[in-house]
Amino acid sequence: MQAVVYQGPGQIALREMPHPTLVEATDAIVRITKTTICGTDMAILKGGVATVAPGRIIGHEGVGIVEAVGSGVRGFKPGDAVIVSCITACGSCESCRRGIPSNCADGGWVLGNTIDGCQAEFVRVPFADNGLYHIPDAIGEEVALMLSDIVPTGLEVGVMNGDVKFGDVVAIVGTGPVGLAALLAVQFFSPAEVIVVDLDEYRLALAKQLGATMIINNKDGTAVEQILEKTNGRGVDVAIEAAGHPMTCKVVQEIIGIGGTIANIGVYSQSAELHKEELWVKNITIRMGVVNTTTIPLLLKTIESGKLDPGPLITHRFPFANVLLAYEVFANAGKEQAVKIILNINEGIGESDNQYTEEKLVEMIVQQVLQRAG
Ligand SMILES: [Zn+2]
Ligand SMILES: [Zn+2]
Repeated sequence: MQAVVYQGPGQIALREMPHPTLVEATDAIVRITKTTICGTDMAILKGGVATVAPGRIIGHEGVGIVEAVGSGVRGFKPGDAVIVSCITACGSCESCRRGIPSNCADGGWVLGNTIDGCQAEFVRVPFADNGLYHIPDAIGEEVALMLSDIVPTGLEVGVMNGDVKFGDVVAIVGTGPVGLAALLAVQFFSPAEVIVVDLDEYRLALAKQLGATMIINNKDGTAVEQILEKTNGRGVDVAIEAAGHPMTCKVVQEIIGIGGTIANIGVYSQSAELHKEELWVKNITIRMGVVNTTTIPLLLKTIESGKLDPGPLITHRFPFANVLLAYEVFANAGKEQAVKIILNINEGIGESDNQYTEEKLVEMIVQQVLQRAG
């Protein structure tokens, strides 16, 4: 089967790899129909995730059809349409039983990290009863794919960890896919204001469409000043950090109001300063963590009832054969106006839902070659 394989820092390839097989009785094999690229995959590509060894199939988000199940799997059978959660959970270790499956002793974020992942034609899903979710008939595969990781992450790690209450003034700093997912999810709690900060005009405009009450481009570095002015110097009730950069970490500390909560979603690959000398007196709470994906069933219901639509987060679609180009587009997300990219597996150039014409693909490949040469 074809799969995206990490070959060392700066190198990935679409390669022929062995078809996965059932190892444990609790495993399932899923034929992936759609997968996507995550910011975490970019960090892996740059060599920034030490646990990912060369030779690993990457990707931790996917939807597909169950191909085979082990004798211990009870809730799924071949032919079922499923979401593969980015979190693997045994269900019986101490962390799982405390409700923190993201830190499962035999799982957590392992797909596309310490075991082979979803950017492949087939994936082995351990503890399938906990890691798979049925896709209801009324929900399309593309939208379901947004529940593998980004929407639960925005909701659980941003909004719920931020303890957002109705009437709150919320700021979201960073408008990557997860920041925008937090923007969608925060509206379940009826905040009074949602202020969104970024450096990218396209994503800020999208944030406005998706319900932000104020958008701020911090290119001139005045976001903190503007937010303090907007809140009469009080600062915000909840500051969601969704970029994982020392600069955005600084912004959320400077805008958080008395009694407020900072919820950290961003994945940090470098250290960032925490100014306790400024913050201690304000009675604030800081929370951070990895998504548990335990909200997937609730999110499916809200999508089914029409209260949530993650569809607008999907900006690009590529056939799997062009996955390297898709990585290129995602790496230049600002210029390409990309948020979430769908990779359609087992499709070739020129398929019906490929928005790039063959000429455009050729032009982009030529540009890449010229860039590398020059
Ligand atoms: Zn992800
Ligand atoms: Zn566990």
